[in-house]
Amino acid sequence: MTKLEQIRAAEARLLLSTYDRSPILFVGGEGVHIVDENGTKYLDLLSGIGVNALGYNHPAIVETIARQSRALIHTSNLYYHEGQAELAMRLTERTGLDRAFFANTGTEAWEGALKLARAHAGLRRSEGANIGTKFLALDQSFHGRTFGAMSTTYKAKYREPFGPVVPGVEFVRFNDVADLRAKFSADVCAILVEAIQGEGGVRPLTQEFFAEARALASSTGALLIVDEIQSGMGRTGKWCAYQHYGIPGAPADGSSSVGWIKPDITTFAKPLAGGLPLGAVLCTEEVARAIHAGMHGTTFGGGPLACAVGITVIDTIEKEGLLAHATEVGDYFMESLEKLAKKHETIVDVRGKGLMVAVELDSADLAKLTVAEMLKRRILINCTSDTVLRFLPPYIVERSHIDTAIAALDEIFVEHATAHSAPAGGKYHG
Ligand code: PLP
Repeated sequence: MTKLEQIRAAEARLLLSTYDRSPILFVGGEGVHIVDENGTKYLDLLSGIGVNALGYNHPAIVETIARQSRALIHTSNLYYHEGQAELAMRLTERTGLDRAFFANTGTEAWEGALKLARAHAGLRRSEGANIGTKFLALDQSFHGRTFGAMSTTYKAKYREPFGPVVPGVEFVRFNDVADLRAKFSADVCAILVEAIQGEGGVRPLTQEFFAEARALASSTGALLIVDEIQSGMGRTGKWCAYQHYGIPGAPADGSSSVGWIKPDITTFAKPLAGGLPLGAVLCTEEVARAIHAGMHGTTFGGGPLACAVGITVIDTIEKEGLLAHATEVGDYFMESLEKLAKKHETIVDVRGKGLMVAVELDSADLAKLTVAEMLKRRILINCTSDTVLRFLPPYIVERSHIDTAIAALDEIFVEHATAHSAPAGGKYHG
């Protein structure tokens, strides 16, 4: 029995069967490549589902972990350590928000955001405002697996086995301004969005929808909460995907201090600490009024090790110019995919921003097959929403890696078209 076979057998016996893993045993990595037990290198265009933003074995992260783990790994939140305020300063400066709370994961950050919204609505009611407790979430949204996050997540498969879910959530049709207006009322305490939906298929909100969500929330004192867990921390070429959305009527010369639509709360996780678990909730001073000592907390969240790495991740992204790089390589990726789409009718859409990129195919079977075929060619990608191939490469990815992926996709689509063409030949039509 190989080591992989032994591990598979042990996991099959010992773990909850929550995952359908690919049969590979990874043991190391360097840059954009992850390496299996046999020393085979895989080009990782998924980066641990959007986590390993600086790739594998980045010297700055390795050095920070070594230094900080020698000094202090954990304190609990009963005492001070050096990292939280330092990291909060960097995050508040880059988000336009005022205060931070640190958690461990995405779903936990999102729970914090939901609790803040309910607490804020309660505070406003105590001050005489007419504001309810309802959340408006979006069709195809994904916010996590814990109860609040799951209850604000759209797909039934994530919610139904665990019902009853948290009450007070209504879903709005994606990018449907009329539906948003119809469902919004003084009962709503917050509108919940991802500026670019991740699991939902890499779907960006329209400027019109996002601006309307901001305007409606502001009209009653409800909150606009933007989940940047997948799209944030530089993945789209800006610190937050919401920074791609201009304020309607704002001067185009950039003379307004913040040219983009600002949420009341945003959440980060995934790449925040370069692979260590760390989540963050950022909010305005107005929202922060609703929280007092003892109302919310965590044992591990915002520990010294994760915060030290978080600081290093942000500083490295800036030092290495990775926001501009993500934009440049991301644009090249999209252009290359658009060229591929001209050749292969099976590609029905190419979309994304920066290094959050997707290709929608006209066939779920082909999408699944493509992920498997890419894996055979030692390239990691995944498929979301059945028909969408998703690419979340590390920010250090280069054009040459994109060329490798495009050539592989081309080959797979050609092979598939040939296998499925009529005897007379012709293109694949799904
Ligand atoms: N929100 C978004 C937009 C996500 O993409 C995810 C995870 O994929 C989550 C929340 C949940 O994060 P985690 O898996 O760290 O709990």
